[in-house]
Amino acid sequence: MIRTRFAPSPTGPLHLGHAYSAILAHDFAKARNGQFLVRIEDIDRNRARPKWENRIFDDLKWLGLTWANSIIRQSERSFLYEKVINKLWAMGLLYPCKCSRKDIIDSALAPQGFSHANYGPDGLVYPGTCRQQKIFVERPLDSALRLNMAKAVTKCVDIKNCNVEITGLKKDNGIINTSQFIDSIGDIVLSRRNKEVAYHLAVVVDDAAQGVSHVIRGSDLKPATNIHVLLQNLLGYSSPAYIHHKLIRDADGKRLAKRDDAKSISSFRSQGATPADIRSLVGL
Ligand SMILES: [Zn+2]
Repeated sequence: MIRTRFAPSPTGPLHLGHAYSAILAHDFAKARNGQFLVRIEDIDRNRARPKWENRIFDDLKWLGLTWANSIIRQSERSFLYEKVINKLWAMGLLYPCKCSRKDIIDSALAPQGFSHANYGPDGLVYPGTCRQQKIFVERPLDSALRLNMAKAVTKCVDIKNCNVEITGLKKDNGIINTSQFIDSIGDIVLSRRNKEVAYHLAVVVDDAAQGVSHVIRGSDLKPATNIHVLLQNLLGYSSPAYIHHKLIRDADGKRLAKRDDAKSISSFRSQGATPADIRSLVGL
């Protein structure tokens, strides 16, 4: 069963870039007798608003898209993410971290650490300050939890059928080169201090739970794919196929942003555009 999904965050209006992504995922599934799902990624409760969710559905309907009834909202699935976090904790792959953003910048850019400061899919790569702490038997509830990437990669490589090619753990003459992978991504946060799940984990749990076969999304998320495939391996999920599409840009070549209301679908609608106009504006 081919199953694709469009997973917007209800934090602003849909713009041309969202429409492009949604139409691609929708048409891909429908052309193959598959199923198109809509998932509301509202884990950021400070910014998610019901009014945006309503407008998203309204815009998608107007575009002529149809989706399966089973809509899931990440805000209603904390218990599932908690279960997975506890599983990774029990596997010894997580450690607590209370570093602030400033702590991380300071230590990553400290003179002795400067040569190691680099940027990964999650921004500045965490310098590993809290990695070598005493062993915590119980999971502390007042800390963020980071994935010990070196351990995770070792575990992944040990797993039968670990998808080393997809995760970017390339084999050099038969030897798997893990250090570049570890250094370029670092120990990412999977659970925040307030127990809010990180995007990377939520998306992997939800794609697996919904049986998504093809993830069609913008090329801005391509660097995160290795993280997702690694997590899928660790959790025993099979990996979907990933298709990354071009990003829709404005006349100046800048990526469209949520605040860019001029390119929102609703503003095109109010100016009398048709769904066919939207398709042609994004080159479909
Ligand atoms: Zn820390």
